[in-house]
Amino acid sequence: TAVIEFDAVGRTYPGPPPVAALHPADLVVESGQYVAVVGPSGSGKSTFLNLVGLLDVPSTGHYRLDGIDAGELSENHRAALRGRRIGFVFQAFHLLPHRTALENVMLGMLYQGVPRAERQDRALAALTEVRLAHRLLALPSQMSGGERQRVAVARALVNEPSLLLCDEPTGNLDTVTAEAVLELFHGLHARGMTLVMVTHNDDVAERADRIVTIRDGRLEERR
Ligand code: ADP
Ligand code: ADP
Repeated sequence: TAVIEFDAVGRTYPGPPPVAALHPADLVVESGQYVAVVGPSGSGKSTFLNLVGLLDVPSTGHYRLDGIDAGELSENHRAALRGRRIGFVFQAFHLLPHRTALENVMLGMLYQGVPRAERQDRALAALTEVRLAHRLLALPSQMSGGERQRVAVARALVNEPSLLLCDEPTGNLDTVTAEAVLELFHGLHARGMTLVMVTHNDDVAERADRIVTIRDGRLEERR
């Protein structure tokens, strides 16, 4: 089944002058696929990420996430869908500095009446999945860059999203640490997670099942 369906999705910023940041494009990402998105600075990667992540809506065409047309939702419904279906991982980890790993992951959870004990259990499960069960009470300042990014991944996973959307997730890490984080993504992929990863790094992109390039707002499948 398709997680992402772009049906002639385009985005023009109205300006003036108007900027055609993403020319109308079709793209289908099936459940369980690992897709890398590469392209130079200013080519439209952020525009693409914002659309896929439901932070923005197409100016033309239709985007369906899990079969739901994003363009037909109110802003509140779009935000709710984003919270339930999409986990975000960024280059800068965006952890709260005075909260422990466990608290940071719990803060990523949609509460909606879930009792605290169950929230803790789910955060613990997510931290175990990223192999940080021994670091629950560590603060971000007490963790390495790789550990921080794994906490951020756990936070992204805690709502059991359909899609993990990553923006340069290894951009702030040295090569050895980046390698460990990429292996973590591989493990998630092997267990069926759908991954879309924007990266400048061709070596990182080569690990994915599919590579999509964006150049001057034109999206093309490279592999
Ligand atoms: P990155 O390539 O690091 O993701 P950004 O996506 O932040 O960088 O910015 C890419 C380009 O888009 C930059 O040239 C920036 O000036 C431009 N840009 C970003 N936001 C806006 C905006 N609101 N209005 C006009 N240009 C923007
Ligand atoms: P990338 O992430 O690959 O750097 P962007 O998607 O940020 O590229 O930008 C694509 C193009 O759209 C650039 O020409 C950029 O200047 C322009 N752009 C991005 N955001 C805005 C905005 N909010 N308003 C106007 N132009 C924008």
